[in-house]
Amino acid sequence: MDIDVLKGIGAKKKDQLARLNIYSVADLYNYYPKSYEDRSKLTRLGEGKDNKKHFFIWTIRSKLYTKNLRKMTVSYLYASEEGSNERIRLVWLYDRYTPMKLKIGKTYKFFTKIKEYRGEIEAINPEFSEMDEDQIGSIVSIYRLTSGLSNKQVHTFINEALEYFDSKEDFVTKEIVQKFELCSRLTNLEEVHNPTSISNLTKAKSNIKVLDLCKDLVFLDQIKKKTKHPHKLNLSYHLKEILGELDFDLTKSQLRSLKEILRDCVAPYSANRLLIGDVGSGKTIVALIVMIIFAMNTYQAAMMVPTEVLAIQHYEKNLELFNKFGVKVALLTGSTKDKDNLKEDLAEGKIDILIGTHAIIQEDVSFKNLKFVVNDEQHRFGVSQRQMLALKGEDVNYLTMTATPIPRTLYLKISNILDMSVIDEVPKGRKPIETKLVGTGSQDILFDFIEENIKNKRQVYVVTNNIDSDDKNSLINLYKLYKKAFKAFRVGILHGKLKSSEKDQVLKNFAMGKFDILVATTVIEVGIDVANANIMVIYNPNNFGLSTLHQLRGRVGRGNYKSYCFLVNEKDRPDGKLKVLEENTDGFEISKKDFEMRGGGKILSLLQHGKNLSDIEYLNMDQAEIDKSFEIFSYLRENDYKDCDLSFIKEFFKEDKRIILN
Ligand code: ADP
Ligand code: MG
Repeated sequence: MDIDVLKGIGAKKKDQLARLNIYSVADLYNYYPKSYEDRSKLTRLGEGKDNKKHFFIWTIRSKLYTKNLRKMTVSYLYASEEGSNERIRLVWLYDRYTPMKLKIGKTYKFFTKIKEYRGEIEAINPEFSEMDEDQIGSIVSIYRLTSGLSNKQVHTFINEALEYFDSKEDFVTKEIVQKFELCSRLTNLEEVHNPTSISNLTKAKSNIKVLDLCKDLVFLDQIKKKTKHPHKLNLSYHLKEILGELDFDLTKSQLRSLKEILRDCVAPYSANRLLIGDVGSGKTIVALIVMIIFAMNTYQAAMMVPTEVLAIQHYEKNLELFNKFGVKVALLTGSTKDKDNLKEDLAEGKIDILIGTHAIIQEDVSFKNLKFVVNDEQHRFGVSQRQMLALKGEDVNYLTMTATPIPRTLYLKISNILDMSVIDEVPKGRKPIETKLVGTGSQDILFDFIEENIKNKRQVYVVTNNIDSDDKNSLINLYKLYKKAFKAFRVGILHGKLKSSEKDQVLKNFAMGKFDILVATTVIEVGIDVANANIMVIYNPNNFGLSTLHQLRGRVGRGNYKSYCFLVNEKDRPDGKLKVLEENTDGFEISKKDFEMRGGGKILSLLQHGKNLSDIEYLNMDQAEIDKSFEIFSYLRENDYKDCDLSFIKEFFKEDKRIILN
């Protein structure tokens, strides 16, 4: 239902809400508070002097006085508390209008600190509301906002939206809700937006998480049924011989994952597997070996990656390996020259393996015998993009690779529903990356350290978020700074706006050690792999999200050299975000902390296109909650989903005929 039906929402409010990704009535009531403020405890004057904000009830006893001092306006009036003789002075600085709303003789709710000043109790710029309003005196929901929208407005809209609650959102019957001691979704949402007590709120949040996860499990189970189709495929290969051609031994979990994928591909049903592993755990090689095996069996394989830079790298870096096995590989990105020839070869089956960006899903790209498709760093593609790739062959086997962290407790259980392989170790010999916050004042020390490092033949990345602006940390300015500071060394520059051939050249040069320092934008965020690079310097780190910072840092520590990540921050003292990075190297721990810091967050469903598993509040679920979701799910499945409204899945299939998981 469109939000137009709600009172007070015109074109302007609509625009503002759209900025919060709220477009419908359901989006509104599913917009969870980011945090709560407990303003429910009524405090008496005598107890409230601890320099914290409290909830008071006072009656206005005087008219408003306003003084114009030299630099500011001071407005004040007096109030009193029932049963107390003390006089309370309410003071507003720089704001003569707000207190005009207070009427003499009337009683209001206040939320404020109080202190004693010259023998009187004083409250400065107190927040207040009418007695029948609920912004004070209750647990108040705090929402993520955008300019033009106040917390109170959003809250009011949400409560209005709740009146239009769509009962279809309850995907299980009342009996199930009762059987498992839950509540209906509407009841839970009402509590989440208008908490009656902390314990009721906790229970409602928990109910929502349990049911949401359960819904996702049902979804996964249904999708799996619908996407797996019978097929017959034979692959012959000598794994030992193939692995013998690598420069290293696979880790145990790489080998296990590889075997799981291969086993899937020759099973009676086509494969649809998710490969999960933290940054640097070595997912690529696992996929490449499978691709090579397909190619050696006269099938075609394709890998789709999110950036051109990454496509180029995967191609260049592994050419030698492909040659060893005599398989023919091609690279296809938006800027590939002579596309027509390449497309012809591909359609005729002269190319065994295609690596590329979304250019490979364009309509005029066709394969002769495509049987295996890999999506690298899948969270950057929408579901429909991935489907288009899969539709280019018959009975295609899919592999999706991601660094999106899923808690261990969850994946052990989810792997019963979803085919999932996990690489949970890094290759031998890796040393943990040391992360340090560097104040801008310490630049000389940083530069000395970098110089020492380059003299030892290692290489350095310098990353910023800014291409061309006046910021002194813009790409160009940093490039100039590093060129000047490291005159004796070779400094390269890389950003998305370069021509493809230039990007290609810069990357090759850096990989071959022709540059000592590469100043780049986040085009290098995912996938880039140069083992000799061991220092990552990130400017304006506060402009990046934690997961981006973790990915960027993952560009170093890929060889056997001790590696470092420096976050150059204006302030010497780290804020919470950077501190998390300094203290943690594990991707899962980092997302968990990220969640804790951002607060509740939205509990999203997998049903949204292109969404990321890490957006779901699974990370905040405790073991009992996860267990409960699985218990309900198992019950529903055993009973053939007769207690379930599966229309939400049908809706999904209306648009997307074939789905690739995740
Ligand atoms: P990610 O999982 O982040 O995609 P990559 O696949 O890029 O990681 O692998 C990181 C680096 O580790 C690559 O240079 C790769 O060649 C190397 N690598 C992968 N597996 C091993 C291994 N078992 N032993 C040593 N190095 C490995
Ligand atoms: Mg990768």
